[in-house]
Amino acid sequence: QIKRDGGNGVRFYERTMNAASAERLALESDLRHAVERGELFLEYQPVISARHLGAVGAEVLVRWQHPRLGRLSPDRFIPMADETGLIVDIGAWVLGEATRQARRWLEVGHERVRVSVNVSAVQFAQPRLLEVVADALRDSALPPASLVLEITESSLMTDVESAVGMLRALKNMGVQVAVDDFGTGYSSLSYLKRLPIDIVKIDKSFVRDLCEDEGDAAIVRAIIALAGNLRLSTIAEGVETAEQAEVLRAAGCDFLQGFHFSRPVPLERLVFSTPPC
Ligand code: C2E
Ligand code: MG
Ligand code: MG
Ligand code: MG
Repeated sequence: QIKRDGGNGVRFYERTMNAASAERLALESDLRHAVERGELFLEYQPVISARHLGAVGAEVLVRWQHPRLGRLSPDRFIPMADETGLIVDIGAWVLGEATRQARRWLEVGHERVRVSVNVSAVQFAQPRLLEVVADALRDSALPPASLVLEITESSLMTDVESAVGMLRALKNMGVQVAVDDFGTGYSSLSYLKRLPIDIVKIDKSFVRDLCEDEGDAAIVRAIIALAGNLRLSTIAEGVETAEQAEVLRAAGCDFLQGFHFSRPVPLERLVFSTPPC
């Protein structure tokens, strides 16, 4: 009795595993062609100045319009792109698009607007990232200071020595670096001062309950104070309410990003504020 159930269980398990890995393989081979078929596209989420509440930049977020499965979010395919090495091509495409676009903003008078591009752990660990970034800057003629690379705290902490080397090289090129999802990794705060970075992005998990949870409020205030003392600017992500925005502004956060201001939108719907003189 037990044996037969067990057997069925195993067979069922194998069948679902096979279905899952077949689906995965199919998706992997689809991803191989996604760039050349033009199935990847970008959305832009405004970065808002906490001072005048206008958009002063935008974060680029990749999406995949899959022919069968519809629109896929990056969480569905970036990890796969990392594992297969496809992230190199995808990353180069995203950087190329983003820098060309930012150059156009500059040309129509948004001179101080910055474009932020996410860099995965695998991209960051590869020395050729420097070449990819340099190519994108050269081809687009975008001033390096207009480009922000977002690197997650956990990718920076995997190997702090190499991270410092890569960050120095990026800094020498003149690009800005932001630590993404700050507060979610295992980093000791003392590492922050060793990293040549410019911006700290407070993870949205601390912002969500900011107005109800005193612990989260204390963490957010501590990050903002620490960043300030290290001369880094702060961006809060996941700002969904006016109340959160006000608490963050009052705590001295420099920039705000989240659904309260705008969801990620197609390029045509992105509006920058005219810079206050
Ligand atoms: P991330 O860089 O931390 O991006 C923020 C994520 O939070 C985005 O999800 C964004 O849509 C979402 N978000 C923005 N405002 C709010 C809000 O108010 N509330 C909530 N709940 N969520 C908000 P998305 O677009 O699904 O991207 C997920 C992650 O995928 C990104 O996290 C980033 O790590 C990665 N990613 C996106 N685009 C790229 C890319 O071009 N290259 C690489 N390597 N990674 C990317
Ligand atoms: Mg990001
Ligand atoms: Mg983030
Ligand atoms: Mg994230």
